[in-house]
Amino acid sequence: MKFITLAQTFDRFEQLSGNALRSAVAAFLKSIPSSDIKSVVYLTQGSIASEFDDVNLGMAAKSAMAAIASASSEDEHQIVLLAKKVGDIGTVAEKYATARSGLLSVKDVFDGLHRISVTSGTGSQEKKASQLMQLLKKCTPLEARYLARLVVGALRLGLASKTILDGLANAYATKDTKKELEHAYNICPDIGLIAETVAKKGITAVRKIDVMVGRPVQMMLCQRVSELPDVFNRLGSQVAAEQKYDGERVQVHKQGTKVTLYSRRLENITTQFPDIVLSAQKLKAQSCIFEGEIMAVKGDELLPFQTLMSRRRKHGVDEMTKSIPVRLFAFELIYLNGKSLLHSAYTLRYSKLQTIIKGSTGIALARRVVCSDTDCIEELFESVVGKGGEGVVIKSLQPDSTYQAGVRGWHWIKWKPEYSEGMQDTFDLVVIGAYWGRGRRAGSYGGLLCAVYDKKKDRFESVCKVGSGFSDDDLQMFPKVLKKANARLNNVVVLKNMEPDVWIVPNTVIEVLAAEITKSPFHTAGGGLALRFPRYIRIRNDKTPQQATTSDELKRMATR
Ligand code: ATP
Repeated sequence: MKFITLAQTFDRFEQLSGNALRSAVAAFLKSIPSSDIKSVVYLTQGSIASEFDDVNLGMAAKSAMAAIASASSEDEHQIVLLAKKVGDIGTVAEKYATARSGLLSVKDVFDGLHRISVTSGTGSQEKKASQLMQLLKKCTPLEARYLARLVVGALRLGLASKTILDGLANAYATKDTKKELEHAYNICPDIGLIAETVAKKGITAVRKIDVMVGRPVQMMLCQRVSELPDVFNRLGSQVAAEQKYDGERVQVHKQGTKVTLYSRRLENITTQFPDIVLSAQKLKAQSCIFEGEIMAVKGDELLPFQTLMSRRRKHGVDEMTKSIPVRLFAFELIYLNGKSLLHSAYTLRYSKLQTIIKGSTGIALARRVVCSDTDCIEELFESVVGKGGEGVVIKSLQPDSTYQAGVRGWHWIKWKPEYSEGMQDTFDLVVIGAYWGRGRRAGSYGGLLCAVYDKKKDRFESVCKVGSGFSDDDLQMFPKVLKKANARLNNVVVLKNMEPDVWIVPNTVIEVLAAEITKSPFHTAGGGLALRFPRYIRIRNDKTPQQATTSDELKRMATR
């Protein structure tokens, strides 16, 4: 495929959105020769490799400008000034490109970008600039626009992997196989490889994609329940309850003595934990993939997450391993000695995990009990929380308890102090806006925008949207009780993107139960705090808006 075709396509994608974009992506994916599809898909993501590959394209913008200057024999200063003015290096490269017809193939560009990415060491920025200059000389203006954006990591087409998977499903498979593509991507988060497999060999080959050492799997996540006894309804009469460690989730890949650690975001974090690598090398398994939570420790004491975060660094790691020792608490095994265990039941995975971890010093099994009643879970829970821990994760022991890659499914349920109602905090909030309801809630409000009261400034600051906990009676009552305002009142402070369908006069106080207070870019309470998982309890007719929870109280609770 010619690079000009790709540049023209990127240009078209930038002008489309919604369904039109999705259709254009599918049609384009279908048109790509299968020999190019892998590289093209990576390029649409602004990259030249999969998400988890340690490839860094990011060339310094300064070097890219130097390349534009030497390719066009223009004054570099002019180029810097223009880049500053327009704020986009692509527009600058486009202005100075001179080639009349597209000579480059996608492969030329892809290989060239690879060369740039692997150029390192002294004088590497100059060498990178010279490599880029060679490519730019052959570019038409449109090609130069996208090449320049790619090389500095600024190609933002907004085509998430989900859109590519949808496009692939439309282009190469049926609607029913979309789920299979998504499943394959959860096991193998390499969108280029998935595209190449389906384009070259069809959906049957995609079904065979399995876990592999050195290629991270998207991690399995937890569901939550609002009442502890519900876990037995969900998971059956017997469950495993484990300590929920508040550290860093890690997926360890071991092949002989080669050990790689991946974070929850699938970043390669191996160099940060040489101590864990050493322990993993000694495990009794030729090859394996297992997961656990890394915790900073002082003897047997578990230290807070913030302490562990000081290990997130590139330099001085050796000193850090001494000053902040860590331990890995393992809880999952998904591959062992050449065999995937993704589809095996959790009990089997766990018994094999026990065998390989036995005798290790730096790696221990997560604290765990098998329970048949809530008292048993609560005993562990209280002991964990009593020592400042986060809670417990309750796991299914049923025969169907496979490892659900990338899924927040019902095989794992988390239980934290905030979920047990007695320990959850309630807040008295002022209703300042409402959103029209849909379905069962049509004709009434489906959600309420709520605020806390800032005593000093005498104003109401938005803190959350409440959309759950309403009975049918509540839904009927809201439009009658909540008085509409024609516009936002001056004492109501809301960011633009949180504006409600209807402004409400800030007179009504409601009681809300919420799981936690978090920082939020969307709310104005206390300088950017929000309530997570808010649930409506009742109207507090007995309270004036000024007697609602204040911003100061919220700030205090947030630091508790
Ligand atoms: P949270 O903020 O509650 O951790 P989350 O969205 O980050 O939520 P969830 O999947 O909902 O993640 O919660 C499970 C997380 O808890 C895992 O991602 C893992 O990092 C951590 N964890 C700690 N101990 C365990 C354990 N024993 N088993 C499974 N996960 C555990």
